[in-house]
Amino acid sequence: MDVAPDGTAGDAVPAEEAFGMLGDATRVDILRVLGDADGPLAFSTIYDRVDVDDSGQFNYHLDTLVGHFVRKTDDGYRLARPGRRVVEAVFAGTVTGEARLPRTPVDETCEYCGSTLTVEWRAGSVELYCTGCAGRYARTHGGKPRGHDADRGYLGRLLLPPAGLADRDADGVLDAAWTWTAGEAAALAGGICPRCSATVDRTVLVCRDHRADAGQCPNCDSNHAVGVRFDCSNCILQTGGSAVLALATQTDLLAFLTDHGLNPLAPDAIGRLNETYQSYEEELLAVDPLDARLSFTADGDSLTLRVDEDLAVVEATRGDGGR
Ligand SMILES: [Zn+2]
Ligand SMILES: [Zn+2]
Ligand SMILES: [Zn+2]
Repeated sequence: MDVAPDGTAGDAVPAEEAFGMLGDATRVDILRVLGDADGPLAFSTIYDRVDVDDSGQFNYHLDTLVGHFVRKTDDGYRLARPGRRVVEAVFAGTVTGEARLPRTPVDETCEYCGSTLTVEWRAGSVELYCTGCAGRYARTHGGKPRGHDADRGYLGRLLLPPAGLADRDADGVLDAAWTWTAGEAAALAGGICPRCSATVDRTVLVCRDHRADAGQCPNCDSNHAVGVRFDCSNCILQTGGSAVLALATQTDLLAFLTDHGLNPLAPDAIGRLNETYQSYEEELLAVDPLDARLSFTADGDSLTLRVDEDLAVVEATRGDGGR
């Protein structure tokens, strides 16, 4: 890609213009045909493969795409990088046949009660459910179920586009969703938007009246008082969760996990890894500015990370569980 003297991409276009260029089925079809091709295609070849009757109209649509989405070379037309991204996004959301994974048992167990888990794919996410207990969001005062899908044992969800369901059984879908989501989390923790690569604004949230002695706090709907929200500075991505999300690439935590056989990118046992990620202890030393200790445990060992108001680790201490 050419880089203009001001440091911006030479062929960058405003969002309104880019949406406008794509606002026609023929143009999207042209991108798809070029995406399917092994190399540059001649004008006549694209015309033959796209469902359009009028060559004048076809010429107009192709011309509109040339520059930003399509490159015209001596050998013919081919996708430019932004065009490739459009086609990739279309394929990620498209499957031949229906994208469906109804509630299915998998070879994983609940981090709370050890019962078999079931998974279900819905609207871009693999949802995890426990068959034996009320799940994560039901752990609250007096054991009274509350929160998201508490009656169904909901344990949380992992991201996976519809294309991820193809050619995988339920266990394969769960593994793929974990790795896919871990990749996104790593980007976010590094301040990189996983969708567009722009900078991500991080907001650290502290529940000032946190009451989670018996589980989920009625004020922040979480069992942890410190949370984090990520907002992309460029696109619409907005997401968040507990503070551990901001530590996905933290060296001491990665070392602690792998020392205990827990692979954060491709785990053998998702339940065991989830237990370490979810059940860390929190100690608030000061709220304004934030000064907190987060203690993770695995196999009786512990790692305590002291974090500041940006959730940057200022001190890491290992405990060997008294051995
Ligand atoms: Zn359970
Ligand atoms: Zn709270
Ligand atoms: Zn973004």
